[in-house]
Amino acid sequence: MLILTVSLGAVCPGSPLFAQSPLPTASAEDRALARGIFKELIEINTTDTPKGNVTAATSAMQKRFLDAGFAAEDVRLLGPDAQKQNLVVRLRAAGLTTEKPVLFLCHMDVVEALRSDWHTNPFEFVEKDGYYYGRGTQDMKESDAALVATFLRLHREGYKPKRDLILALTADEEGGKFNGANWLVRQHRELVDAAFVINPDAGGVELEHGRAVVADVGATEKVYSDFQITAVNAGGHSSRPRPDNAIYELTAALNKLAAYVFPFELNEVTRTYFTNLAGQESGQTAADMRAILATPPDLAAAARLSAEPSFNSNLRTTCVATRLQAGHANNALAQTAQANVNCRIFPGHSPEEIRQQLIGIFGDAKLSVKYVSDAGEVSDTAPERKAMVPPAPIKEVFAPLTRLTQEIWPGTPVTPVMENGASDSIYFAQAGIPCYGYSAIALERDDDRAHGQDERLPVDSYWKSLDFFYAFSKALGGE
Ligand SMILES: [Zn+2]
Repeated sequence: MLILTVSLGAVCPGSPLFAQSPLPTASAEDRALARGIFKELIEINTTDTPKGNVTAATSAMQKRFLDAGFAAEDVRLLGPDAQKQNLVVRLRAAGLTTEKPVLFLCHMDVVEALRSDWHTNPFEFVEKDGYYYGRGTQDMKESDAALVATFLRLHREGYKPKRDLILALTADEEGGKFNGANWLVRQHRELVDAAFVINPDAGGVELEHGRAVVADVGATEKVYSDFQITAVNAGGHSSRPRPDNAIYELTAALNKLAAYVFPFELNEVTRTYFTNLAGQESGQTAADMRAILATPPDLAAAARLSAEPSFNSNLRTTCVATRLQAGHANNALAQTAQANVNCRIFPGHSPEEIRQQLIGIFGDAKLSVKYVSDAGEVSDTAPERKAMVPPAPIKEVFAPLTRLTQEIWPGTPVTPVMENGASDSIYFAQAGIPCYGYSAIALERDDDRAHGQDERLPVDSYWKSLDFFYAFSKALGGE
């Protein structure tokens, strides 16, 4: 990880955004409520297992909103499966508004955790030594709870935004057949349509020995795709090899892929990322970063930077063989040889476009190149949908985000990044809605326990994220 500085030119000193107002801190009552919601969510098992039930969690939150006086039509529980119901909450603007809403997108499911692997019960909310322990304390029930508490507080205070604020609490981000984000944007666009999405499942503040060093904001994502490459052969006895051979044909194709370099690309997010990074680097690396940003870009500089995998992944689509399987006996010619090729596709290209490209790279009509969905289903063609090419990071998000982050963690640079992983943001990006991944959770760099054992969150980080989301919601909704 590198320390980056912000140079977005989005926030001008002297603008009203810089008017120094002390960040309001949640009262003891608000903290108690937020802690109670967090505890309740941690103690409801929302894994995609027979014991898990997302609906138990979303309906518990629905009850809180209804009890608080939200109108029933603004607290919608819906989904394609009884155990995977999503909750969509709307804090309405005062009167008529032409401004599109802001959507906070939060998944409610968690990864399975085994009691035998943990020092505490993963489905019990335990406060110990300044930490909250439990499955989902980092990913991402802390943000679910902070946003539920924030929406309840804004409603109780009679806050009327200038645009609707929407909170979607969804199923099956971590796995499972009923991804709520995808289902909502496709089946109920009217409920979740927004000018942009804030997804606290990504980004956040990185701490080193308690000191905030950088705040990352996921401003675009690559698309994850798997492809199954298969060579078949009549086979036969291995004492009588034939010129055609499934293993050799497959490995020859994979070697072509190994030698292939996808075209160099930049978008507005990676441009800002490398601009910021160049200011932190020195020598040849800094010069190369500036050279790729020039018009026309210096491709030799891009090639030098690409030697570093983390830079390379920001400069192009990548595809790499990750699994291999062939043959059925030591003394038989393989009848099948199969590989999985995992691609991380640069925004603006579809999986089908990359599948066609792979076919071209292999140049062997005897090989089949099929798409493997997240659910493991294999199909002859891949989706045509492409993630939108991200616009320049938008000021109405980055200005308040930067201001509030720096009020809470003074001096911390904020930088937009392209995520190489995948979150639910991708479904909204494919629907043409810009998404920003930011959790306002501060974690030590070496204490990332998402999906792991003894997942925990510093209590102090929870209070800070609560203060952040309250102020950020008001900044986005209009003070
Ligand atoms: Zn997550």
